[in-house]
Amino acid sequence: MNYIGRFAPSPTGPLHLGSLVSALASWLDAKAHGGDWLIRIEDIDATRCKPQWSDFILRQLDACGLHSDGPIVFQSRRDSLYLQYLERLMPTRRLYLCHCSRLQIQQLQAQSQPTNTLLANLPSSLNPSVYPGTCRTRAPIQPSDYTDPRSASDDSLSPLLHTHGGANFLRFSQDHSVRITVGDPVIEWSDRLMGSQQQNLNLEVGDFVLKTRDNHFSYQWAVVVDDIDQGVSDVVRGADLVDNTPRQLFLYDLLQHARPRYLHVPLVLNENGDKLSKQTQALALNPAQSSIDLNQAAEHLGLSSSDAPISERLQRWVQAWSQLHTRSCTSATKMA
Ligand code: GLU
Repeated sequence: MNYIGRFAPSPTGPLHLGSLVSALASWLDAKAHGGDWLIRIEDIDATRCKPQWSDFILRQLDACGLHSDGPIVFQSRRDSLYLQYLERLMPTRRLYLCHCSRLQIQQLQAQSQPTNTLLANLPSSLNPSVYPGTCRTRAPIQPSDYTDPRSASDDSLSPLLHTHGGANFLRFSQDHSVRITVGDPVIEWSDRLMGSQQQNLNLEVGDFVLKTRDNHFSYQWAVVVDDIDQGVSDVVRGADLVDNTPRQLFLYDLLQHARPRYLHVPLVLNENGDKLSKQTQALALNPAQSSIDLNQAAEHLGLSSSDAPISERLQRWVQAWSQLHTRSCTSATKMA
């Protein structure tokens, strides 16, 4: 099998121990499978992401001996790709403009009590709420909505949009989010660590956003397009993201693309039981102390710490990881 894995940090701050655990686990899994490991900087939300954090994260990873096997991709430069893929979904007539503000949605959500079973064991702050479907009856978006007919004939539509980097589409959908109708699917898959999982997207999440009101493509959309575009076969990441997996699988299925395999590693929690994050004041990793940090991350993954030089240590952990995690496993199961 052609294994391609990736680590996809959002540069909203420096790496902390929790993010190093995800980086190390994804690197070890790629190497244990004889595969490639890629770094992708998920800086799609310019209001939250800062270039200096991208640089610092890359230095932190470098100090830990974790180097990308291919060019580092930045999501902020890929709008045209995200739009090209979005055009593929338009014939499904599932995309619509949503003008609801966050406040309006919250007010409607407050009247209902959603249950998100995949997050039942995680800190309650991670529970998202269900979109109430307010704008679902609006007409589905089609390319003619945002293409100037004087400058494009139908067969040159995609190249035109490609050249313009999606500018027409972003102008057309300004101040609206673009949501996708989920219908009523139960998404089932098998996580390599957490086992059999399922989620009813309609009851537990609802129609979700592919492009935000402040005019950038959403995490759900960019991550699926990038993983497909980069040929990612295996996603290894923190368990806080497990709740996103059904939405991403739903998009893989709609795009008629083979699903990757998933392995979600246990979260590192602080003494209050909260996930480490900028909000919970998680300590930034100091590149000068990478040896200690790597040992802590390895121990969290059930591997023995060591004083050997970092490159030697990493090789030992690859062996140990192989024994723990490289039994043959099937790819994620399909939508029910
Ligand atoms: N960018 C996401 C984060 O930093 C991770 C995305 C992923 O691994 O799918 O939480």
